[in-house]
Amino acid sequence: MTIAPAPRPDPYASLNAEQRAAVEHGRGEATPGPLLVIAGAGTGKTMTLASRVARLVQDGADPNRILMLTFSRRAAHEMERRVGRVLHAALGFGATQQAPSLPWAGTFHSVGARLLREYAPSVGLSPQFTIHDRGDAEDLMGMVRQEQGFAATEKRFPLKGTCLTVYSRVVNACLPVEQVVREQHPWCLGWEEELKRLFRAYVDEKQQQQVLDYDDLLLYWHRMMEEPAIAQAVGARFDHVLVDEYQDTNRLQAGILLGLKPDGRGLTVVGDDAQSIYAFRAAEVRNILDFPALFTPPARVITLTRNYRSTQPILDASNAVIGLAAERHAKELWTDQAGERPQLITVEDEMRQAAWVADAVLAQREAGLRLTRQAVLFRAGHHSAALELELTRRNIPFVKFGGLKFLEAAHVKDLLSVLRWVQNPRSRLAGFRVAQLIPGIGPASARRLLDAMEAADDPRQAMRAFRPPAQAAPDWQAWMQAHDALCSSGWPGDVEIATRWYQPQLERLHDDAVVRLADLQQLARIASGYAGRERFLAELTLDPPQATSDESGAPHLDEDYLILSTMHSAKGQEWTAVYVLNVVDGCIPSDMATGRTEDVEEERRLLYVAMTRAKRHLSLVVPQRFYVTQQGKGGDRHLYGSLTRFIPGSIVRLFNRPAMQVAREATPAPQLPAIDLMARVRRSF
Ligand code: ATP
Ligand code: MG
Repeated sequence: MTIAPAPRPDPYASLNAEQRAAVEHGRGEATPGPLLVIAGAGTGKTMTLASRVARLVQDGADPNRILMLTFSRRAAHEMERRVGRVLHAALGFGATQQAPSLPWAGTFHSVGARLLREYAPSVGLSPQFTIHDRGDAEDLMGMVRQEQGFAATEKRFPLKGTCLTVYSRVVNACLPVEQVVREQHPWCLGWEEELKRLFRAYVDEKQQQQVLDYDDLLLYWHRMMEEPAIAQAVGARFDHVLVDEYQDTNRLQAGILLGLKPDGRGLTVVGDDAQSIYAFRAAEVRNILDFPALFTPPARVITLTRNYRSTQPILDASNAVIGLAAERHAKELWTDQAGERPQLITVEDEMRQAAWVADAVLAQREAGLRLTRQAVLFRAGHHSAALELELTRRNIPFVKFGGLKFLEAAHVKDLLSVLRWVQNPRSRLAGFRVAQLIPGIGPASARRLLDAMEAADDPRQAMRAFRPPAQAAPDWQAWMQAHDALCSSGWPGDVEIATRWYQPQLERLHDDAVVRLADLQQLARIASGYAGRERFLAELTLDPPQATSDESGAPHLDEDYLILSTMHSAKGQEWTAVYVLNVVDGCIPSDMATGRTEDVEEERRLLYVAMTRAKRHLSLVVPQRFYVTQQGKGGDRHLYGSLTRFIPGSIVRLFNRPAMQVAREATPAPQLPAIDLMARVRRSF
């Protein structure tokens, strides 16, 4: 007797009609036409994209031929997980079977790095190229600026950070230097010719050293796609190209997509013009608005208006904030979920703000809401400093996104530089750092070594032939042994070899070597998750693990912890309870952005992004007094804050406003017994 398998529940059954239309678009056709899903926050865009991928795979598409472009590596993992879940329900994989992975899910930058590495030989690029993060790029720009003699100009030439910002904008927005200076950096007017000379020298230097910075990953990919034969070959590798958060792409990214799929067939993009928050990095909201008309026939457009994330009172307040935008955005969001109004909490100062949030978080946890379902959002990384102290003091574990990065720590940079230098012996930045870790080798010897390596056909041979200063000889020998071992070892053993060599240097250079060694062990654990050295270095540089909270001790993954995040890094995510810090003018909009209308409008959208992350509980906190650090103007300043201009009187009524928390102490001092501590200590001996 055979038993008929029970019918599987339809994993697409919960989709609404528009979502379903997006999932099924072009079904049955070999290459579906271009599709744009444009809709407000929490309407299921990302979910729909995941369901569409699952549907494609279920219908026979090869997961290896699906290119899925997301905003962060985290988002790519999340996407893979969601696709897996739908497929699991649809096809019923056994408990031990894994759903198919999406090897081409990643950010534009990481996919660009992989493709460039693959096509390097045919485009005259070294496959060994190193990727510079923002800090490295700034250092190199600084070096070139000095070499070119701009550091010594009488009238002050723009600093290296500004030079890099101008350069980055020129590249990403595809604009001439003159225009970028005129519109974005008018205080650099008069330096246009020198800047161009500097940028040419910077590009030469990078090519000489075989390094690419972030912008180059897009720029080189874009330029590579301008060659029709290569564009054709790369495009033909992918049957489907899907992009999330399309409102935050820039011109280069839009150009790359067009190169991949010139007629738009197989292309799906989703996004929300009201959430465009990366104009400062040259994202073009016009990309999403102009998308349909790029193709003939034009792309199909599907809009979604039902929100599945938040309650109606949270949506009412969010709709009202974005409703005052200068430009009209997508339609009002609605839901059938009732709930409490969001809160507008006025407190005296930042200390009280920290105490209020910590209390509220703990109260929610008491009521059964895990910490991981709660998040605190803020405009700038340093806005959470007081809260971090308060949380640490109260032993509330937290993870911070978008703040100090793991990779910015000196010891992590040292170790990665070792791996980078072995990977690419022409990288001067990595070489300069590593060589000077060797006792007895200072900047002059390091430069002599690097010059010799640069001039040689085989830089590794030049390294072996190098004669270090006499006092450095034994340590140099130890380095060469480690170097040779690294050249022949397999992955992920490399990290162990590098750490073994580095440990004595670490102990010599840092008092807290033990703590730092733990970070390196964590790095080794992360490394073991990657297929090889080159992939590991590229991915790590592109999208570093952001979470370290040194003081509180990084929580283990199975522990419960609160999320702290900048508003930018919160994109695409959701939590049951959301607290927004410093909802005052000067913080949001940031006082760096109050000059031009476009900048202020971007800040408005940012607040909208923050508010629409909340599912059930939303609290905006307004400290009446707070400190600001004035960059370049010297010192800190006390500011008296007023509620952000984005929540005028007409909107305030959509919030609950409990009376100001004035009398409350930041941390109520418990009644303690008086003791004679001196006497107790004396008695100890
Ligand atoms: P954002 O603009 O913030 O990126 P989004 O439009 O991508 O948001 P999602 O994150 O995909 O929205 O979905 C928001 C929430 O709504 C998720 O928890 C998702 O699971 C849920 N959701 C989406 N569609 C449905 C549906 N048809 N039925 C039930 N829940 C849904
Ligand atoms: Mg989304």
